[in-house]
Amino acid sequence: MIAGNWKMFRGPDPRALRDALGDLPHVVAPPFTRLRDCVDAGLTTYAQNVHWEPEGAFTGEISAPMLQDLGVVGAIVGHSERRQYFGETDEAVGRRTHAALEAGLHVIACVGETEHEREEGETEAVLGRQLAVLEPHENLVIAYEPVWAIGTGRTATPDVAEQAHSFIKSRIDVPVLYGGSVKPDNAAELLAQPSVDGALVGGASLDIDGFVTVCHIASSR
Ligand code: PEP
Repeated sequence: MIAGNWKMFRGPDPRALRDALGDLPHVVAPPFTRLRDCVDAGLTTYAQNVHWEPEGAFTGEISAPMLQDLGVVGAIVGHSERRQYFGETDEAVGRRTHAALEAGLHVIACVGETEHEREEGETEAVLGRQLAVLEPHENLVIAYEPVWAIGTGRTATPDVAEQAHSFIKSRIDVPVLYGGSVKPDNAAELLAQPSVDGALVGGASLDIDGFVTVCHIASSR
């Protein structure tokens, strides 16, 4: 799976992206205001977040049934930018993931250590804690996104990614995507690792050619 996280950017024209992708498997996660356009263009569309209640007094949140009304088929949960800037906790990530899966959405649940945690030798402890709230499910995918590699241009080496992915797989038996400055130049060597099952692409997914190239690389493996 190659998933594009558009973050809080308008992103490319959905119809142009759909045409460029052709039959290539893909997921796009645009901001809420572009979900409908992406669905209408025929893109496999995920939200960037989802609440655990079906409705209620939760200003600024969106529920799984509301997303499904739009034709959205999945959601990213626990992205490090939500953990870092919006106080997302492991417990909330667990609740969001559980409710979304129960409702029939696919989920990409994100985990990853900060640079400080890696330097302190805490990577596996952090990943273990973040994974402890999740259970295997046929519609669940984990994204390993080391925080120090997101939007920084610094990518984990294939060995570092492989080590983290195989640790994650020892804890939970689901596919694991790598995320952190993935682009056409480095996608092949990362996707060649045995425990890397795909990629969550941020910045590079805003460019149609770049995203389509990464999807091509993945589908030719
Ligand atoms: C992301 O937003 O999930 C991400 C991995 O971003 P980038 O590819 O820009 O590092």
